[in-house]
Amino acid sequence: MRLVQLRKPAAVLAAGQSVGAGDDGPVLVDRLERRVRYLRVSLTDRCSMRCTYCMPPEGIEHVDRSEVLSLEEVARMVAAFAAWGVERVRLTGGEPTLRRNLTWLVQRLTQLRTPSGAPLRVVMTSNGELIERLAGPLKAAGLETLTISLDSLDRERFAAITRRDKLDQVVAGFAAAHAVGLPLKLNTVAVRGFNDDELGALCRFAWQHDATPRFIELMPMAGGRLFVPGELMPAAEIRERVGAELGAVVELADQPQGPFGPAQYYVLRGGAHDGRRFGTIAAMTENFCGSCNRLRVSATGQLHACLARDDAGDLRGALRSAQGEAGAAALERVVRTALGHKRDAHGFEQTGEGGPRKAMISIGG
Ligand code: SAM
Ligand code: SF4
Repeated sequence: MRLVQLRKPAAVLAAGQSVGAGDDGPVLVDRLERRVRYLRVSLTDRCSMRCTYCMPPEGIEHVDRSEVLSLEEVARMVAAFAAWGVERVRLTGGEPTLRRNLTWLVQRLTQLRTPSGAPLRVVMTSNGELIERLAGPLKAAGLETLTISLDSLDRERFAAITRRDKLDQVVAGFAAAHAVGLPLKLNTVAVRGFNDDELGALCRFAWQHDATPRFIELMPMAGGRLFVPGELMPAAEIRERVGAELGAVVELADQPQGPFGPAQYYVLRGGAHDGRRFGTIAAMTENFCGSCNRLRVSATGQLHACLARDDAGDLRGALRSAQGEAGAAALERVVRTALGHKRDAHGFEQTGEGGPRKAMISIGG
């Protein structure tokens, strides 16, 4: 890959890396020479649920709506990233389905092309509550994959962890997405003492819907305020439990995602589910920062180079400062600075210290 500078704002280049040029056109490369291919965009800091590890029960200060990027601004910003070689965008939140005209945005983004001519790949993570109604329109709009989060199949446990009695809606959303042929993933935060006896059942539920289950290690966001250290279930233990519950040996699988995503995939050998796959996302015990290829944008247009750090660049200011060439140049300055600050490690400690002061809902999960 050639790294040819497109423009040279000296101060920024001295701090880090660049928007360069690969064989197919521009690429984003950080100061550690990692190529950024994946953008996660939070569409809102609001949610219809209150998961205990993500949001406090009350006292949440939502930003004023005028501070949140409009969907037109999101589309303009993502178009710039696609032109710089970002290949995949994940819409998230908060709960992205709470945004009106979401399908308009998905349709708009799937029409974008990367410099190689390939369509931008658009995926989304949702709590599933409104998916029963939205699955068809999202599929028609070109959504490539939908990830639905679900931590328990037990109604009381579901209500306890989300503080909402909405299991039926989420299950119906899962079924609807499956019925319209949306490729699905299931995200479960594995919480010791809470759902560690349900990992096999959640795998079976996912496979029944042709979905890939993935188990996430609990991370200490919000200054560790919502994190209980003993509840962290290390990925090695997750794999052991899945194997034991399903009577199978767990082996590392071929990784289907190429350069995308933090999940590591495994395959079951033996037992009734021979050949089935699941993933773990192990930020805490099997650090994957070295191969990080992501940038994140919060609902207010803050550009985060790392989920575990509070510092961020102001894309919204750049977006609102100017249109056209001048607007694109302003965006590029913010992106260059973020690439120059991208770290090679997060600060999460298993004690709950070291993470960002911001909550997941403010940065975007
Ligand atoms: N509301 C949507 C949902 O729940 O899927 C999208 C946003 S949510 C922040 C994205 C993902 O982050 C979910 O799968 C959720 O379980 C996960 N998550 C939230 N807080 C977390 C934490 N402290 N540690 C690990 N995963 C977390
Ligand atoms: Fe809402 Fe998702 Fe956070 Fe749960 S994890 S409170 S569903 S944003």
